[in-house]
Amino acid sequence: MTQSDITIVGGGLIGLSSACLLARQGLQIDLIETTTPPPWDQHKISNRVSAINIATRNLLDSIGIWQSISDRRVTPYRRMQVWDSHSEARIEFDSREYAQPQLGWIVENNLITQTMLERLQQNYNVRLHFNSSVETVEAKEDSIKVELSPAGTQITSGLIIAADGGHSKIRELVGIETRQESFHQDALVTTVRCEKFHQNTAFQCFTPTGPVAMLPLHDNHCSLVWSCDQTQSDHLMTLDQVDFNAELEQLFKQQLGALHILDRPHRFPLHNRHASSYFAPHVALVGDAAHVTHPLAGLGANIGLLDAAALAQTIEHATSRGKALGSQSVLRRYERWRKGENSLVLTAMKTFKNVFGSSNQTVRQLRQQGFSIANSFHPLKKELASYAMGLSGDLPIVCRPMVSADPL
Ligand SMILES: Cc1cc2nc3c(=O)[nH]c(=O)nc-3n(C[C@H](O)[C@H](O)[C@H](O)COP(=O)(O)OP(=O)(O)OC[C@H]3O[C@@H](n4cnc5c(N)ncnc54)[C@H](O)[C@@H]3O)c2cc1C
Repeated sequence: MTQSDITIVGGGLIGLSSACLLARQGLQIDLIETTTPPPWDQHKISNRVSAINIATRNLLDSIGIWQSISDRRVTPYRRMQVWDSHSEARIEFDSREYAQPQLGWIVENNLITQTMLERLQQNYNVRLHFNSSVETVEAKEDSIKVELSPAGTQITSGLIIAADGGHSKIRELVGIETRQESFHQDALVTTVRCEKFHQNTAFQCFTPTGPVAMLPLHDNHCSLVWSCDQTQSDHLMTLDQVDFNAELEQLFKQQLGALHILDRPHRFPLHNRHASSYFAPHVALVGDAAHVTHPLAGLGANIGLLDAAALAQTIEHATSRGKALGSQSVLRRYERWRKGENSLVLTAMKTFKNVFGSSNQTVRQLRQQGFSIANSFHPLKKELASYAMGLSGDLPIVCRPMVSADPL
């Protein structure tokens, strides 16, 4: 039986970043994770990567780990080319148009989590419980208790932060409902060796069955995120490497030359899911536990990290005024900050997916016109880019643009 200020459930990107942000406030934290987080391998590029934006880089910098991440392996991307496979329509973004050295970076997820763990292990006020799961939750008037399996440890704290992913058990245990619909698409993910240099460009081709992205990585590699309907996903998963490479080259040969996948793709079913509330008594949801969206704009982790930063800032504000950190007014304030903005992102992703996935002639014509308008109408393009780059919106302090951007 132990006591702490905050119990964080889930040691993915969002749970670990919450722990890093809150540990700095001197709070006693218990973090519970079902698995042992996968270590980063300097000799092999992991196939789980994220496009991270400037707000996220600022957050990682403020918790003191960006330098360590960028010293190991990150790839900045300076341009983005997006096109429709069935027309000439295209839109291009170049960081120079926004007076930035880059639009964002591609980073392996396990490099970020490993660096966060290295940071947390230096903190005397963080206890890490790996290979443990929360089995029960019991809310009382002024605290909340969890029981862990397999050890049966009980932890009582003022707040649980549920960062336990899209299928959040905490969300279910405290009875928060979600609105959920399938995108009827899978994302196939793997690493690709490319004949031609990617020129630090992120490529995205919208095909009738879904968007296919090639994100630039170290040493002439790219990360492939091939979103497609289930029929095509089943078909692609049956192909051997040679045939898979050939299908991929049909989309990207012009830009990247001959392509060679390094591993069999991993398959992720895609959903749109949003929690009806971001809190329950003494419980706050962050990251995928609160919202899951399509990976087409690479925003899921970025907006989840904004949740973590907004919640940490709300808690700091509350505790400095002597308020209980799990009180309804504190958690409502966090929800007001994040839920509306996340809702807009989820709606926008759904609209993009529907418009770009439609083979209806009228929608296709509108799509082509939309691309041309967005590409030539600079205020709209700037607005889109600024949000995706993490330069606009109601940013928490740790995510705000720094005065001088470093060159990486
Ligand atoms: C193909 C694909 C590509 C993507 N690309 C991008 C991108 O480029 N940029 C971007 O910003 N986002 C991207 N995303 C989204 C991003 O990956 C997620 O939003 C992000 O990883 C969510 O992190 P999380 O920590 O909230 O959840 P998770 O990563 O799911 O972590 C949850 C953790 O909780 C643990 N857990 C679960 N249940 C329990 C329990 N009962 N007790 C204890 N621990 C528990 C799990 O083991 C896990 O470690 C992509 C998503 C997909 C599918």
